[in-house]
Amino acid sequence: MAHTDFALTVEDLTVSFDGFKAIDALNLYIERNELRVIIGPNGAGKTTLLDLICGRTAADAGRIRFNDEELTKLPEYTRVRRGIGRKFQTPSIYENLTVFQNLEVSFPKGRSVLGALFFKCTDEVRTRVRTVADEIGLGDRLDTEAGLLSHGEKQWLEIGMLLMQEPELMMLDEPIAGMSTRERELTAALLKRICRNRAVIVIEHDMDFVERIAHKVTVMHQGKILAEGPMEKVKNDPKVIDVYLGH
Ligand code: ADP
Ligand code: MG
Repeated sequence: MAHTDFALTVEDLTVSFDGFKAIDALNLYIERNELRVIIGPNGAGKTTLLDLICGRTAADAGRIRFNDEELTKLPEYTRVRRGIGRKFQTPSIYENLTVFQNLEVSFPKGRSVLGALFFKCTDEVRTRVRTVADEIGLGDRLDTEAGLLSHGEKQWLEIGMLLMQEPELMMLDEPIAGMSTRERELTAALLKRICRNRAVIVIEHDMDFVERIAHKVTVMHQGKILAEGPMEKVKNDPKVIDVYLGH
């Protein structure tokens, strides 16, 4: 197979649930440092697509290649090690730990010199925690218990926990749901920073937000791609207006 410049290549991907094709022969090509937004009506298959890419759901057919390596048959934890990070809709942070501790426990232990045997907070980890905390805008909240953070701050903390692993592909499912206007603005800026060092896929409904962050937009409908391209083009596409934007 020829080398490509794509970080992620998805071809002919198909999965059925009880005979219903949730993803139907789908192709998707994501470049390095690209911020792609996936939109589409409820039930279009957006979340299922992320489940297939991260290995939570097994494909019935098709291929997923990441950095020119076939991922399709690899288990979820191996894909994490290959650099795939996935943020789910409900944040899975440790409410009783501080911001610092949440980030610290997310440092990939296999990568530290001493390994998992007796993991301790080395300077390397501490430096990385500070860098990530600054990146997610929680640099001055390191000692705050995570349970005391606002809804938006919790979402950023979870993004930070993923960043601790330095993923090369980060996938976020509706990251601004429930956020205030200000938090949405800050999240847009955060996602733009994050994609400087990696590919990012975001599922989102808020069109103003999509317009602000997307390099390219993929519109899904019934497990297939209905339209794809710059927001400007996609939002004027009659098919997209018909099945999604018009509602
Ligand atoms: P979206 O995220 O675009 O709203 P989903 O990917 O969640 O859509 O769902 C696509 C379709 O697949 C829906 O009809 C949903 O009911 C179905 N589906 C998703 N996951 C499962 C599952 N694990 N078992 C059965 N059906 C599922
Ligand atoms: Mg969904």
